[in-house]
Amino acid sequence: MTELPARRLLLVHAHPDDESINNGATMAKYAAEGAQVTLVTCTLGERGEVIPPELRHLSGAALGQHRMRELTEAMRALGVDDVRLLGGPGRFADSGMMGLPDNDDPACFWQADVDTAAALLVEVIREVRPQVLVTYDPDGGYGHPDHIQAHRVAMRAADLAAEAGCPLAKVYWNRVPRSIAEASFARLHEDLPGLPFAKPAALDDVPGVVDDTRITTEIDGTAYAAAKAAAMRAHATQIEVAEPYFALSNELAQPLFTTEYYELVRGERGPGDRETDLFAGVAAATEGKAP
Ligand SMILES: [Zn+2]
Repeated sequence: MTELPARRLLLVHAHPDDESINNGATMAKYAAEGAQVTLVTCTLGERGEVIPPELRHLSGAALGQHRMRELTEAMRALGVDDVRLLGGPGRFADSGMMGLPDNDDPACFWQADVDTAAALLVEVIREVRPQVLVTYDPDGGYGHPDHIQAHRVAMRAADLAAEAGCPLAKVYWNRVPRSIAEASFARLHEDLPGLPFAKPAALDDVPGVVDDTRITTEIDGTAYAAAKAAAMRAHATQIEVAEPYFALSNELAQPLFTTEYYELVRGERGPGDRETDLFAGVAAATEGKAP
C-alpha cells in the first residue's frame, strides 16, 4: 500500500466554484503544508448562470465541460491535485435553483438516492482515509438543492464509512460568524463606490452565517489570500472578483473571506477557545502514517 500523507482532508461540494469560495484558503494552506487535500464535487454545475457575455453561449454539457476545466485551473492555483467528480464526471446532473422544474430531472443530484451517492463517496473515503471531512450544514448553507443533497450524502457517507471501519475523526460544516459578516458588509457599503459592482448582496445571501458562539474553528488563510482569489477567478463563468470582494451572476457584491470558519459537528474539539487547525487533537495526524 502506498504511504499516505499524515494529515488527510476531504471536502465535499456541490458545484465547481463552491470549494474556492468556501474553503479556498483552507485548501491552499493544508496543501502547502503537505497534507492530502481531496475535493469531491458532486455535479458539474451545468445549470449555472454564466457571467461573461462572450461565454454565455455555453450551456448544458458544454458548460459542464468548461466548468470542469475551470475547476482544474482553480485547483492548480490552490496547489491541490486530488479532485474527483462523485461517481465520475456527469454521473449526477446539476439540479438548478430550488423550485425550478430542473429539480424534477431524474438524472439530477437532488433526485439521487442518498445511500447510492453516499456509497460512491465511501469508496473515496476508503481509499484516501481522511481524518477530517468538511461539508455544508443541513440547509446547504443557503438552500440550493445540490448543496442540501451534498450535505446529506456527506453525512451519510460518514456513517457508512464508520460502519466499514474507516471512521472520520472530525466532521465540520462551513460557517461564517455573524459579527464578521456584519463588519464585512459595513465595510463593503463604504467601499462600494470604488467597486465594479453596482449593489451589495444582503447578509442573508452569505451561506452558513450563524451566531459567533457556534463557531468552533477558524483557519487564518491570510497567507493564501492570493491563491484563493486566483482560484475564484479561475471560475470565470461564475464569479467576478475585485478583492476583497466578489460577485456571483446576480452581480451583487459580497465579502471575500480569507479567514475561513467552521463548526465542528462530530469528533472531539481540540484544546483552546477556538481551534485554529482542523486536525487539532487528531492522533493519527502526528503519527506520520496511514493505518
Ligand atoms: Zn454551488
